[in-house]
Amino acid sequence: MDIAGYGTPGVAAESELSYDIAVVGAGAAGLYAALTAAGAGASVALVSATPLAQTASYWAQGGIAAALAVGDSPERHLADTERAGRGAVRDSAAAVLCEEAPARVADLERLGVSFDADRRGGLALGLEGGHSLRRVVHAGGSATGRRVVRQLSALAVDEPRIEVLEGARAASARMRDGRCEGATLEDGRSVRARATILATGGAAALWSRTTNPPGSLGVGMALAHAAGAELADLEFLQFHPTAVIGVPGREGFLVTEAIRGEGATLHGPPAPGKAVGERFVDELAPRDEVARAIAALLADSGSTSVGLDMRAIDPARFPNVVRALRDAGLDPARELIPVSPAAHYMMGGIVTDLHGRATVPGLYAIGETACTGLHGANRLASNSLSECFVFGARAALAGLDEAEPADASGAPSEPPAVRLARPDRATQEALWQHAGIVRTRQGLQRLLDDPHPLARLIATCALQREESRGAHQRTDFPDTNPALNHRHAVVGADDRPRLAEWR
Ligand SMILES: Cc1cc2nc3c(=O)[nH]c(=O)nc-3n(C[C@H](O)[C@H](O)[C@H](O)COP(=O)(O)OP(=O)(O)OC[C@H]3O[C@@H](n4cnc5c(N)ncnc54)[C@H](O)[C@@H]3O)c2cc1C
Repeated sequence: MDIAGYGTPGVAAESELSYDIAVVGAGAAGLYAALTAAGAGASVALVSATPLAQTASYWAQGGIAAALAVGDSPERHLADTERAGRGAVRDSAAAVLCEEAPARVADLERLGVSFDADRRGGLALGLEGGHSLRRVVHAGGSATGRRVVRQLSALAVDEPRIEVLEGARAASARMRDGRCEGATLEDGRSVRARATILATGGAAALWSRTTNPPGSLGVGMALAHAAGAELADLEFLQFHPTAVIGVPGREGFLVTEAIRGEGATLHGPPAPGKAVGERFVDELAPRDEVARAIAALLADSGSTSVGLDMRAIDPARFPNVVRALRDAGLDPARELIPVSPAAHYMMGGIVTDLHGRATVPGLYAIGETACTGLHGANRLASNSLSECFVFGARAALAGLDEAEPADASGAPSEPPAVRLARPDRATQEALWQHAGIVRTRQGLQRLLDDPHPLARLIATCALQREESRGAHQRTDFPDTNPALNHRHAVVGADDRPRLAEWR
């Protein structure tokens, strides 16, 4: 693999498969898009590098944000999303999310997902940081992703209009006359479709300390970029405040924010003679604020972790988190859990419009690999699963309006194939050090020489943004520049960044 650019695949004899819609990636976004398209009568190829259910979506704990509570409204959800996003939220996209999330939750129930109920039989709603009221639908306590993905995977497997190509990895977009008409797989097969929807997940596993599964390497972003599509906001990588640290086998394990929503507190190192340290931050502030407060405290104290006190939390409410901690030898009923921030969620990605269309005709992106701009500089907790369903449905339906690919008389042109092998440890450490919670120009410039193409693009976007905002904090530009409100760092095929205004 030539990681300096995007390498050339070893392609076997080509065989072509033809569908209405090709969906690449089978997390929450890909599964839901595939089911929506099939429900509308389309034939669908669902290309999944990993076995179904081995995705970041499977790991999601907290839940799905939707304005369902009495007294809540899409407008209030939108206001919270905008506040968390620090002046960089694309309002039109966030408004779509907040308007349509309740209907998507209802549709998931129709599809057989069983969410947790309150005592009156209505949906139980959790509270998470940045939300002004209880708004997070969950399943199995903190097993939301697992429950949703299992159910949608089972439906996809049973749906005759969906062909699941499991263990198949897309290597490049298949292009003809500037239009995407499918994808070429690493095994040499070619999937031809009217619309190709990338649902390949995020990129937080590029950083050395992460909550993500090892496959979250931004492959879809690299593939789209190689096909000429624009990427944006790669400097906005969210650090989750409370990932377990220093516990072998559970490094980076995420302790959901919903636990803080139920009253768990964060404590600095204890003073001599004290068992528990002082609280130092509003635990329900948006994530960027809490992560920064922890990082600052760790830098000042020289400690490697802060303590999460969940001793007063009912273990039955979060059974899988409690079980995982106990398996690792920690007893959350008796002791504080050592946590510190970890790379968690990529707000940036493949630029799309409000129907998931990328800037290359025929190519779509949804879920974490996409960038509608709705999260701005800091995603509001549990808005990402909502995004998977809202924009997954929109892209599937928009894709059906695409024309049939032109008659394949000439050979399609193939952009360079992408085989992003796992970044080496040096790249991961360099991203953690230089594109971490606090950044400097010198550090970011070093990343411009990194062998990994996405590390270079992340640095390019981060250098372009000469201010501090949300997840992007620079010591050389510590203030937010109001002139950059609603401006997004966009990189096209020439890798030259520009700031575009999105509303
Ligand atoms: C521990 C954890 C907890 C979280 N908790 C929450 C939460 O409570 N609420 C919330 O809203 N969000 C949460 N998130 C974030 C959320 O889970 C993700 O943003 C979301 O699940 C992403 O879904 P996706 O469908 O876009 O991608 P993924 O679920 O990451 O799926 C990507 C898929 O693409 C496949 N793929 C990748 N490259 C290729 C290729 N080249 N060819 C074929 N297939 C490919 C992968 O195998 C995988 O199937 C959490 C994330 C983590 C890691």
